[in-house]
Amino acid sequence: MGNLYKKKILIDLDGVLNEYGKEPYDENFIPEIKPGAKEFIEKLSESAELYLFTSRNLMLSAKWLFDNKIDKYFKDISNTKLPSYLYIDDRCICFRGNFDQTLKEIQEFSAHWEQI
Ligand SMILES: [Mg+2]
Repeated sequence: MGNLYKKKILIDLDGVLNEYGKEPYDENFIPEIKPGAKEFIEKLSESAELYLFTSRNLMLSAKWLFDNKIDKYFKDISNTKLPSYLYIDDRCICFRGNFDQTLKEIQEFSAHWEQI
């Protein structure tokens, strides 16, 4: 019954759930899971319907979820921006209605895993 009322949340893979950025990008290998990611997903899945949101190969991504034993917390995997309550991403800026502020944030942006 709970799932009927859960809000949908899309969660990015690279740089959010894994250790992206430590090694050169390899389209055939998904980096190891980030410490705390499993607990985060487990907790969030209690109140939201989770979708993995990635531009990576969907079969490889599914295998990564399975290998890390977190596949059961995800409803599906998508590379399409599904209508959702929230998007969790390491490469995004939250638009709060102010274009000047957004331009400033774009200029100052760096992902948490990038060297400054
Ligand atoms: Mg990312």
